[in-house]
Amino acid sequence: MESEKFTRQTLLEVNTLTPSLFTLRCSRDAGFRFQAGQFARLGVTKADGSQVWRAYSMVSAPHDEFLEFFSIVVPSGEFTTELRRLKAGDTLLIEKQALGYLTLDRFADGRDLWLLASGTGVAPFLSILQGLEVWQRFERVVLVYSARSAAELAYQPLIKGLMQQEHLAEFADRFIYLPTVTREQVAGCLHGRITEFIANGQLEQKAGIRFDPQASRVMICGNPQMIDDTRALLKQRDLQLSLTRRPGQVAVENYW
Ligand SMILES: Cc1cc2nc3c(=O)[nH]c(=O)nc-3n(C[C@H](O)[C@H](O)[C@H](O)COP(=O)(O)OP(=O)(O)OC[C@H]3O[C@@H](n4cnc5c(N)ncnc54)[C@H](O)[C@@H]3O)c2cc1C
Repeated sequence: MESEKFTRQTLLEVNTLTPSLFTLRCSRDAGFRFQAGQFARLGVTKADGSQVWRAYSMVSAPHDEFLEFFSIVVPSGEFTTELRRLKAGDTLLIEKQALGYLTLDRFADGRDLWLLASGTGVAPFLSILQGLEVWQRFERVVLVYSARSAAELAYQPLIKGLMQQEHLAEFADRFIYLPTVTREQVAGCLHGRITEFIANGQLEQKAGIRFDPQASRVMICGNPQMIDDTRALLKQRDLQLSLTRRPGQVAVENYW
């Protein structure tokens, strides 16, 4: 029965970024469909033959032929201890059904899209940013990506080169990238937490737009504490969580 629920994919590339961060690229089953912002359940087989499964957001775009993921290494973490050992040519199990609601169809309208990420929480936003829909729908798209150090800011070539891709070039003036680093001073990055920069107005000042219930739509992904604190601050600005029974301006994905 279970073999019908997932496919076996082959790892094409594994890149170590820092001792605690790495990226994985693998083959993609022809039948695997997803919307940008969704996640898949990945499985690894342990030495004793048992399987461990965890949720992972796709970094790659729905139009890519491969799947890409961005992972933390949790010290003694059951899944990541196994995952980090894999190398090109090894097998990764992937459930056939993509899941999750951190997708653009959460919002019916809006002018400015804010994507607020901590750590590996940038993954779903990279998928969204590589598609056309976000650029056709929003006048401004602001990616705020928070990491502890400059070395932990992943995918910088992808982010910085994003709008040079042929299909996105005409939207280049819509993109605002605000990297933030908490534990060191880095040229070109804000120094501190996303929540501080919302509270003191620096985020709005840097982006040149305001948080406003009419215009703003906000997606937040990563660390649950950061998400809770950010939601509370946005609520003070009249931005509410979007629910099926009550459309709002904010959508979130907690990673733990
Ligand atoms: C919808 C969804 C999407 C996810 N997407 C990703 C993703 O794209 N990349 C990714 O690395 N993880 C992602 N995660 C987290 C992932 O599922 C696992 O928690 C992670 O792989 C660690 O597994 P583990 O068994 O090694 O440790 P666990 O025992 O699962 O976790 C132990 C602890 O590690 C910490 N932790 C877990 N995940 C992270 C993280 N990503 N960053 C920092 N600290 C963490 C938490 O404190 C957690 O309690 C996602 C989780 C959810 C629910």
